[in-house]
Amino acid sequence: MELWFTEKYPQGWGITFKIDKALCSVRSPYQRIDVLETVGHGKLLVIDGCVMFTEADEFVYHEMLTHVPLFSHPNPQRVLIIGGGDGGAAREVVRHSCVEEVFLVDIDEDVIKVSKEYFPTVSCGLEDERVRVKAEDGVKFLERCEEESFDVILVDSTDPVGPAVGLFEKSFFEKCYRALSADGIMAAQSGSPYFQLELVGRVHKTVADVFPIVHTYVAGTPSYGGMWTFVIGSKGQDPSLGPVRKDDLVVSGLKYYNYKLHVGAFALPNYILQVIGKFGSGT
Ligand code: SAM
Repeated sequence: MELWFTEKYPQGWGITFKIDKALCSVRSPYQRIDVLETVGHGKLLVIDGCVMFTEADEFVYHEMLTHVPLFSHPNPQRVLIIGGGDGGAAREVVRHSCVEEVFLVDIDEDVIKVSKEYFPTVSCGLEDERVRVKAEDGVKFLERCEEESFDVILVDSTDPVGPAVGLFEKSFFEKCYRALSADGIMAAQSGSPYFQLELVGRVHKTVADVFPIVHTYVAGTPSYGGMWTFVIGSKGQDPSLGPVRKDDLVVSGLKYYNYKLHVGAFALPNYILQVIGKFGSGT
């Protein structure tokens, strides 16, 4: 008998993986966490029935969420990751030798435990001595933060359902703005341009209400059904102009991000420009 896992999208579409076996299923106080061994894509992390990543292509999302903002900042020493309990974003952040401290704040410590047990190549970043992990709601953590505490904030969250709803609201991005240094940069995953186009537009416009510079950029993520979007808000440099510093030692270890692709990721198709209100502006 064949076993398949399918994430079903509202538009009658689905992403399906052939499964060898189910490895783990945890019901945490916040969400259901499953780990499945796929046939051909390595292990798959699923939260509340949604694909988080597969071992085969998690590098795309984690590299693009982190290196575009990090290389857009002249000297990112203090980094906050909200969500990202699997450790993939932290693994990418600690590649930068200029980074001195990383706070990772995920509401669900069970995600951290499961990732450490089943995804050592993803969670390895959590072992870096610069990384401090807290199990807490990212909204509450930011409320307690001093102003200008961080140079870069990465929001590596689930989609706006359940515990992550608050991470897509204007008040949350205002807290990010307040916690960022004068030239700080925030980047967040903002959904699928194929199946969540309204969300992509809504998140972009919400961030645009808070940050002086805002862009949406994209990456090709097979496990998410093709393209994925990220929104980036900056109090300093314009990230779409390309990296303001280069570290070839970092880039040589990457499988997706490079300096030219950094700029290319901001070149968007018309239908996305339209939904974020930038169509016809020549951007
Ligand atoms: N990095 C993966 C990827 O490739 O997309 C998935 C993202 S990560 C698993 C999403 C995390 O957001 C989950 O671990 C979840 O616990 C966390 N999360 C959801 N709501 C949160 C909140 N309000 N504060 C902090 N973390 C939250």
